[in-house]
Amino acid sequence: MKAHNIDQLNQDFKQNAKTKHKIVGIQTWHLNLNPLAMSQLAFSKGGKITDVDLGYHVDWRGPFATQAGALMVEITTNKGLKGYGLGGGGLAGELIIDQHLQYFLIDQDPLDVVQIWDHLYHISSIYGRRGLVIYALSGIDLALWDLCGKILDQPVYALITDQPRSEIPAYATGNDIVDYVEQGFSACKIPLRFGLAEGELGLQKNLEIVQKSRDLIGEKVDLMVDIYLRWDVDYTLRFAESTTDLNLKWIEEPIALDNYRGMAELVDNIDSTWIVSGEHEFTRYGFRELLQWKAADMIQPDVSWAGGFGECLRIAQESANLHIPTWPHQAGTPWGLHLTACLPLAAMAETFGLNHLSWAQSVESEIYRRLRPQPKDGLFKLNDLPGFGLDLSPELLDAYAVDTVIVKNMKKRN
Ligand SMILES: [Mg+2]
Repeated sequence: MKAHNIDQLNQDFKQNAKTKHKIVGIQTWHLNLNPLAMSQLAFSKGGKITDVDLGYHVDWRGPFATQAGALMVEITTNKGLKGYGLGGGGLAGELIIDQHLQYFLIDQDPLDVVQIWDHLYHISSIYGRRGLVIYALSGIDLALWDLCGKILDQPVYALITDQPRSEIPAYATGNDIVDYVEQGFSACKIPLRFGLAEGELGLQKNLEIVQKSRDLIGEKVDLMVDIYLRWDVDYTLRFAESTTDLNLKWIEEPIALDNYRGMAELVDNIDSTWIVSGEHEFTRYGFRELLQWKAADMIQPDVSWAGGFGECLRIAQESANLHIPTWPHQAGTPWGLHLTACLPLAAMAETFGLNHLSWAQSVESEIYRRLRPQPKDGLFKLNDLPGFGLDLSPELLDAYAVDTVIVKNMKKRN
C-alpha cells in the first residue's frame, strides 16, 4: 500500500508531475438535484411508504442543504485543464466562493490541494467551520483532487492506494424497496417520516412501516431506517426495543445533531442494531467530537459536504483507528465511489435506486446519469479514467443550473 500520510501527498504529487499548472479560473453552478421533491426550492409534503399514508409532512430541509442546494465547482488551469467537484450550499455556497474563497485560489498549483484546504479552512474559520462554508469548500476540494488526478494521469483512488476496491457493493435508499431487491440490491434504507410531532400514533405507524418492509423484502436483505433528526432518546429506545426481532441493520440520525450525549446513550443501550450518524457532521474536528463521545457505531461523512476528499480520508482513518467503520453518505457518486474505493475499512455505497423513479426518466435524468452512476446487480464498478472519471461539460451544467456565478476577473487580493 502507498503511504496514507495525507500531509505528504503534495510533495509526492509534485515529484511525479510532468507539467506544472496554475489556477486561472473558477465557476460555480447551483443545481437543484431534486426538482420534483423540492419544486421552486420550496417544501414538499406527504407521500406513501408501502401502503401507510404519511399524511401531511412539511419537508423542512430547505434550499441550501441536501439535493436542492447541490453546487458544482469547476476550476480551470492555465493549460486549459478543468476539474469538477460537487459541493453544497446553493446560492449561498456560490457567494462564499465568489466573494471570498476564490481570491486565495488564483495562481495556486492544484497539486497543493492539502495546503490549499488548510488555508481556506483557516481563513474562513472565523465565520465557517461547519455547515455552508464547508459545503462550498468541499466542492473546491473535489475539483482540485479531480485536477490532481488529471495532471498525474491517474484515477484519484490510485493516488491514495495501489489496492483500491474495484467493486463496491451498493445499498438503495427510498421507498421502492421491492424494486430495489429486484434490481439486485442486498440492502435497502427507508426514511421514517413520523417524528415526535406525530406522537404515539406516529410511532405505531413507523413500526407498521418497518414490519411491512421486512415482510416485503424477506429476511435476507438488510433493512435500515433513516429518521432525519425527528426523534429523541426515549422514542428511539422504545422503537429499538419494539423492532429487536426485525433485524434492522441501523437506525440513522435519530435525534438532534448536537445531542452527542444522547447519541452515546443510544449506542450504549441498544445492541440489536447500529446507531449511526455523520451525514451532517463536518471536518475531522466535528467527527472527533462524535468519536470521542462514542456517539455512533458507524459514521457517514458525505464527501460533498463534510470537507471533501482528503478530509473524509482523514476522518475515515481516525474512525478506523477506533474500529468504527465509515460508510460515506450518498457514496454512489463518482467522488464518493473513489473515496469508498480507498477507505481503510470496507463499506457499502449508498444510491437512490433511480431507474424506477418517474422524474429520473424525465429531462432531469441526463445530469443524474452523469452524477449518479447506477450499480449493476447491486455492485458499483470503478473505471480507470484520470481524476474522478467524470463526464461533465459547462454546457450540460448550464442546462441544469438554477444560478451560475462566473468569476470573470480573478485576481489576488492583497
Ligand atoms: Mg440520512
